[in-house]
Amino acid sequence: MKIGFIGLGNMGAPMAANLVAAGHEVTGFDLVARPEGITMAESAPAAAKGAEVVITMLPNGQILRSVAAEVIPAMDAGAVLCDCSTVDVDSARAVAETAEKAGLGALDAPVSGGVGGAAAGSLTFMVGGGDAAFATVKPLFDIMGQKAVHCGGPGAGQAAKICNNMILGVTMIATCEAFALADKLGLDRARMFDVVSTSSGYSWTMNAYCPAPGVGPKSPADNDYKPGFAAELMLKDLRLSQQAAEASDADTPMGQLAATLYARFVEEEDGKGRDFSAMLPRFEKRHRG
Ligand code: NAD
Repeated sequence: MKIGFIGLGNMGAPMAANLVAAGHEVTGFDLVARPEGITMAESAPAAAKGAEVVITMLPNGQILRSVAAEVIPAMDAGAVLCDCSTVDVDSARAVAETAEKAGLGALDAPVSGGVGGAAAGSLTFMVGGGDAAFATVKPLFDIMGQKAVHCGGPGAGQAAKICNNMILGVTMIATCEAFALADKLGLDRARMFDVVSTSSGYSWTMNAYCPAPGVGPKSPADNDYKPGFAAELMLKDLRLSQQAAEASDADTPMGQLAATLYARFVEEEDGKGRDFSAMLPRFEKRHRG
């Protein structure tokens, strides 16, 4: 397939490399990055011209909107614009509407799995958009990832992503504060893990990504909290969840509090650049009140 790939940063570069390795003809564009092994175009529209699928992997919704405004007029009718960035639901829907008006297919397909998943081709795609566009891009999702869930119409992929990550942020905080309480009560962390991981308090954050070093399976906690999934990326996703909650009049008090705590952690404490599970050493140092 002829593919345009715009945004070749930490995630985009390995995703594009996997498409090249599978034999697809990829033309890339990035304002800054020049990854090896990918043919680069002079501009975003030049990368999009003649492509059957244009994939974008960009920092935020505002940048997505401006890139989409440039590339949509350059794309052939019937081609598909597939955005894999994590952006606000409104931007995803606005871009899909513009693309569809121009006779293109459009998908929002944010991912989970991080840089490791992008390199290994084991991402999970959460996809919003039409059936035909999904069918066109599905073989590419199968190369870049292990699973692609068609969640519904435009914006449904972003909705699934921010709901999932809102649960993840809230659950990580709950797991970390429980470990900090266990410490104060003199309860051994390994015993706490043994009980909770097989009891009703279990979760992915406890069982698969335990924030306590030396406890449970290997996780960023065992690597001095190097990400993994950086706290500032969790903050981005929590803020998107609260923006969406605001716009749709949804009551999300736990999500709101998680966004506040991660904002404090990233912007006022030492959380920036650390894994989001480094909330545990944060709570360890704190006192009530
Ligand atoms: P990144 O900053 O490494 O890459 C973004 C790239 O976009 C950069 O290379 C930048 O130069 C390029 N760019 C910015 N504006 C551009 C423009 N106008 N035209 C062309 N290129 C432009 O970010 P990343 O870590 O690769 O993340 C990309 C997206 O994936 C984000 O939306 C992020 O939230 C999401 N995501 C990241 C992770 C992760 O672990 N890194 C996990 C899941 C989802």
